[in-house]
Amino acid sequence: MKKRAYIYPHLEELRVGRRFRVRPNETIIKDFGQHVWRTGSPHTWKWITTTQHPRGEAPIIVAKISIPKRLRNGRETRAPCSICSVRAPKFDEGFLVFCSDGYLRLIGHECGHDHFNEDSYAAALKEHDDEIAEAAARSMLDERLPDLARTLIEARSLFRDILGVLDFQERAVASITKRAVAAMRRSRIGDQLTVDIEADAADERGRKVIEKRVVSTAAGLDALSPPSHLLGELNLAIAEAAQVWIVHRDEIAERLASMTRHEVFAASKAVRRLDSLIETAREVRTNMGNLFNTEGLAALSAWGRHGHCPTPFWIEVVGTRVYLKVGLRPRDWQRGFFLTLPDGRLAQPVIVS
Ligand SMILES: [Zn+2]
Repeated sequence: MKKRAYIYPHLEELRVGRRFRVRPNETIIKDFGQHVWRTGSPHTWKWITTTQHPRGEAPIIVAKISIPKRLRNGRETRAPCSICSVRAPKFDEGFLVFCSDGYLRLIGHECGHDHFNEDSYAAALKEHDDEIAEAAARSMLDERLPDLARTLIEARSLFRDILGVLDFQERAVASITKRAVAAMRRSRIGDQLTVDIEADAADERGRKVIEKRVVSTAAGLDALSPPSHLLGELNLAIAEAAQVWIVHRDEIAERLASMTRHEVFAASKAVRRLDSLIETAREVRTNMGNLFNTEGLAALSAWGRHGHCPTPFWIEVVGTRVYLKVGLRPRDWQRGFFLTLPDGRLAQPVIVS
């Protein structure tokens, strides 16, 4: 006689649930999910079948199962597995599978590798994950595609503005030297520019004490080190998102429905990429707008003209003319070379909504 260690009366009787002619739809799977969430017992759902799994068959995974942590109580609350353990509790994490005989069964997460051909099980798992990802991507596109034109317009205007400022910035850096900009970056503490001043006091070893003194304060100092490749990446993201843009809004639903999974993934990747780059670009432009205006440039100049500045330079703004140069400011500075302040629109970001 076969010896059994323990009998679980509630699992003694095997259940035969509803038989499906085709793979069960979303509503049915959702009902199952809610049942598991509520009761923690996948094997008591109205349509579940707990008989032995058809031998050797690779099932279609229709849902992942995780018994809610709050309802777990060791072995007592686990679900039986149709492959290895039809009459005894087995798993907390597993899958709801659709079998070729039309029944929905439960299998534990460990069983796939042992029972099925490794490749077909891995393929079933991947297929399940891809289905979930595809559904999420479709619903994201459904929501974002109608607004994509506006996002593209904003991205293009950000690109233009940042390009204009970078051109100004490059010329300005050339005039006051890269070395000065690097020293200014190093001297920065938050939004303050500081200089090192040797104090009269000395420490216990007789060394002079160096004091950091705040010379000026400016918002947007991050603009001194703009992220490299931002414009190239933004340009690429604009091009890629423009390719998935559907011009006529009333065609979106139909076009989306006819797209393959691969196309849906590519489109959602393009949209997400543009969304993320546009966020960085907005921040960069805000910093540029805060720094490259009359007040911001005056704060930089105060640092460059300070007696303790290691790399002296000066900047003077008259209207939209920006006079600047390395070294001390000469008497006739207004007769010298000047740059034009970047477009005033920078101070007021274009709100597209
Ligand atoms: Zn099992």
